[in-house]
Amino acid sequence: MKTLERQILTNAIEKNGTDEQMRIAQEECAELIQAISKYHRAQLAESRHRGHATERATKHLIEEIADVSIMVDQLKLMIKGNHNDVREQKITRIGERIQKGDK
Ligand SMILES: [Mg+2]
Repeated sequence: MKTLERQILTNAIEKNGTDEQMRIAQEECAELIQAISKYHRAQLAESRHRGHATERATKHLIEEIADVSIMVDQLKLMIKGNHNDVREQKITRIGERIQKGDK
């Protein structure tokens, strides 16, 4: 995270409090779930020649991915821990599963 981004997000946490920012994180996760669902439906509709909904759904999905990414950054600032180590371990595990042929 860039220094300016960290400062802005820290200010948001200080202004609104961790409870509020965590509630917003929950809401943004729900919005992402809905955007993924709409993206799949748009793809299905387009494959059946029912319009060009995918472009709009893709744009919306990108917005929601950004929202969740920002809230994840704030969660990392609020919940102190070795986030990078855990992330690295999980990515390594995914790599091992792929090599083994698991999903
Ligand atoms: Mg959102």
